[in-house]
Amino acid sequence: MTTPILSVRNAVKRYGQVHALDHVDLDVADGEFLTLLGPSGSGKTTLLSAIAGFIRPDEGSIHLRDREITAAPPEQRDFGMVFQGYALFPTMTVRDNVAFPLKVRRRPAAEIAARVTECLALVQMEQYADRMPQQLSGGQQQRVALARALSFKPQVLLLDEPLSALDKKLRADLQWELKALHDQLGVTFIYVTHDQDEALSMSDRIVILRDGKIQQQGAPGELYNRPRTAFVADFLGKSNFIDVSVSGEADGVFHCQAKGAQFEVDAKGTSASQISRVALRPERLRLAEPGQEFLPATVKQVSYLGERCQVIVTHDQLGELLVSCPTWKTGITPRAGLPVSIGWDRDACVPLSND
Ligand code: ADP
Ligand code: MG
Repeated sequence: MTTPILSVRNAVKRYGQVHALDHVDLDVADGEFLTLLGPSGSGKTTLLSAIAGFIRPDEGSIHLRDREITAAPPEQRDFGMVFQGYALFPTMTVRDNVAFPLKVRRRPAAEIAARVTECLALVQMEQYADRMPQQLSGGQQQRVALARALSFKPQVLLLDEPLSALDKKLRADLQWELKALHDQLGVTFIYVTHDQDEALSMSDRIVILRDGKIQQQGAPGELYNRPRTAFVADFLGKSNFIDVSVSGEADGVFHCQAKGAQFEVDAKGTSASQISRVALRPERLRLAEPGQEFLPATVKQVSYLGERCQVIVTHDQLGELLVSCPTWKTGITPRAGLPVSIGWDRDACVPLSND
């Protein structure tokens, strides 16, 4: 990374016995779309609040480029902010809401008027300038909140679950819009969500938090395909987990046993001692007629999802495994009780570490 726009060093925040932040180190690149992802209570809001200046960490420091801002009040950091419950000023029109940060900064009236128009156009809300917030839908209110946060051209925009109060379809639309806006403006986004699909679809990089600690970070595809721990493999998408023991190796391909089932795991750069548990994505499993793949199984349950079909199969020794197949391509029509066989490519299993 070139010089980061924002750095968090060794941040600690305790609430009684709870470590809301437990020695967090984070660098954010200029112009990046960075997402903090984790379950409820993992410390996402605490980290964003420390970056925003609403709380001060017990230990550690925060730098904006080369300026230390650990103790600086929020207004001196100049970050744009959008939060969950659309916190528009209820007694101001849309126009006045968007103008507010510029008025606080004492910008000339002509500049304010021009900039408000520009920002409302950015979020396609020009025609609503004279409405009051309560006359807008949830999605429209969030658009206005976004326009307000961008009005003073902040270098960094902080967003805490901005779409979580919206219904699914609208959320998906706004995800596209937010991403497009990010790419168009080049502003650094630090985005908090507990929604894995949202994180995967929008981010340049995802940081996964658990109990106030960073578990793993990387580009969406990297995290999805190479989760280091069972927590990441399970939180980001779905996974099957198989406990294995290694009985031999050749060129980074390990012969593994799992309760009598035998298969190979391609894991170059790994040593046999590091392979005790593997994650296997449901979409990497193949479902076929009995005898065509290497493990016999029986269909237990089928769930039709439109574009995909999720099938729980049981194998005598391995137990239940989740298979996800495109509905337009299944060679067989799975139904409960049907004998099948299952298989996967040897690079489909990802060895996990225990921590
Ligand atoms: P997230 O945003 O990931 O859901 P938070 O950062 O809000 O998580 O909280 C992290 C942990 O810190 C949780 O266990 C939460 O209960 C605790 N916590 C957060 N803020 C406070 C507070 N003001 N007082 C006491 N505990 C808090
Ligand atoms: Mg939160």
